[in-house]
Amino acid sequence: MNQASVTILGTGSALPTYQNSPSGQILTLCDKSFLIDCGEGIQLTMRQMGIKTARLYCIFISHLHGDHCFGLIGLISTLSMMHRTQPLHIYAHADLEKLLRPMLDYHCDELTYEVIFHAINPRKKEVIFSDRTVTVTTIPLKHKVPTCGFLFTEHHRQKSALTGECEYHYQPRYAYVSDTQYTESILEQIAGVDLLFHESTFTNEWESRCATTMHSTARQAATIASKAQVKQLLIGHFSSREEDHSIFLHQAQEVFPNTLLAVERETVTF
Ligand SMILES: [Zn+2]
Ligand SMILES: [Zn+2]
Repeated sequence: MNQASVTILGTGSALPTYQNSPSGQILTLCDKSFLIDCGEGIQLTMRQMGIKTARLYCIFISHLHGDHCFGLIGLISTLSMMHRTQPLHIYAHADLEKLLRPMLDYHCDELTYEVIFHAINPRKKEVIFSDRTVTVTTIPLKHKVPTCGFLFTEHHRQKSALTGECEYHYQPRYAYVSDTQYTESILEQIAGVDLLFHESTFTNEWESRCATTMHSTARQAATIASKAQVKQLLIGHFSSREEDHSIFLHQAQEVFPNTLLAVERETVTF
């Protein structure tokens, strides 16, 4: 079994810069690739990195702010130019299909594959995807528009030596939490996960901005990681205001030492 890993494609926030693309990451679990959020330009980073888009299994969109979904139409079109035949499943708020369908009909009327939208309710904690080895559950978040994070759990069925019945043995767990203001309502769901990605849009000095924009600071992300006793914290979704991301890392590590910075084109294994 390959190790679980997450590859950062974009770690900026709303405003794309020369340094950072908006949100996007590839999670690899059980040899399957899941794309989480798809900001503008994400497909180029994937190609530059030689990531095989043919292996893309499903796409999960946390919310419909542009920095999390503007890359979808371009990616869908490119996959067709590359003669994809396997259906592509997209899990998102119901409005995404309403917004994208007319664009698909106009720009991509001869797609080589089917795009299947799965409407999710970001306000509810529920299992939205499950196959033999991976389960995905929504994590309701607090943001300006309906938003949810995702909890990915890898599991393997094994027969119990004692009872002969099939049992699930839960293995790596990854939680993606972006975008959100500080909320302890997620603690129970993410408790003890192997890796938590939590947005950290602002440095601590800008905490007052969090109430109006409904984002988090580095300290707040680390406080959530500490209270949930996760094994490792990965922070990203950085404001374009800060060019040097090491300040986010230092501020988070003051509260939760086992913190990593999300760096574009880098992969974290867990
Ligand atoms: Zn965002
Ligand atoms: Zn947002």
